[in-house]
Amino acid sequence: MGSLGYFTKSDRGVIQRAAFLAEGLTQRYFGLADDLWRRNPYGIFTLKEVNYSLCNPNAFANVVRFRSRRDLSGSRPHKDRYGIVLHDPNILLALLRSGCPDLWTLGLFVLTHELTHIVRFGEHGVDFFASAEDREAEELAVHEMTSEILSGVTNTNHVLDLYKCGDYSDTGSLDISSSQGGC
Ligand SMILES: [Zn+2]
Repeated sequence: MGSLGYFTKSDRGVIQRAAFLAEGLTQRYFGLADDLWRRNPYGIFTLKEVNYSLCNPNAFANVVRFRSRRDLSGSRPHKDRYGIVLHDPNILLALLRSGCPDLWTLGLFVLTHELTHIVRFGEHGVDFFASAEDREAEELAVHEMTSEILSGVTNTNHVLDLYKCGDYSDTGSLDISSSQGGC
C-alpha cells in the first residue's frame, strides 16, 4: 500500500490477476465466446492515469467509453471500447476498515461488477446514457448478477454482504474520446 494512497506496482499485479479471473467468470456466466475479451480489449486505469473529471469521487470504480479518432471520422462503422477507472485511494481506504477483505477479494468484486456493466453495454444493448431511474434499476441488476457470478468463489460472500447495492455505487459512467486521458 503506497504512502500516497495510490496502488503500488505490487497492487497493480494483484489487480491484473483479479481481472484475469473476473474476465473468465463473466465470459462463462454470460455464455460468450472464449475470446470475448481478446476481441474486445478494455483498459484498466487508476486515478493517476486519467483526468480527474472522468472519476466519480464516491465510487470504487467507474466505466468509461471511448471511440478511436478513425471511428469518430465516420469513415467506417464505429465500435465502442471501454475502460475501467479504478479509484485506488477509495479502494485502499476501504481496505483499512476493520473487517474489510484483502485487495485480491475486493478487486475481484469491483472488476467483476464493472466487466458485467461492460458486457451489458456492449452485448445486451443497455444504454450507456440511461436516465437516473434506469441506471438505478441497472445497478440493482448488475449487483445481482455479480453476486451470482461470484457465488462460491472464496471469500467473496463477505464482500458482497459488505457492499450490498446502494453502498457500492459507480453510476458515474462517462463517455470520452480516445484522445483523452491516454485511454
Ligand atoms: Zn455498477
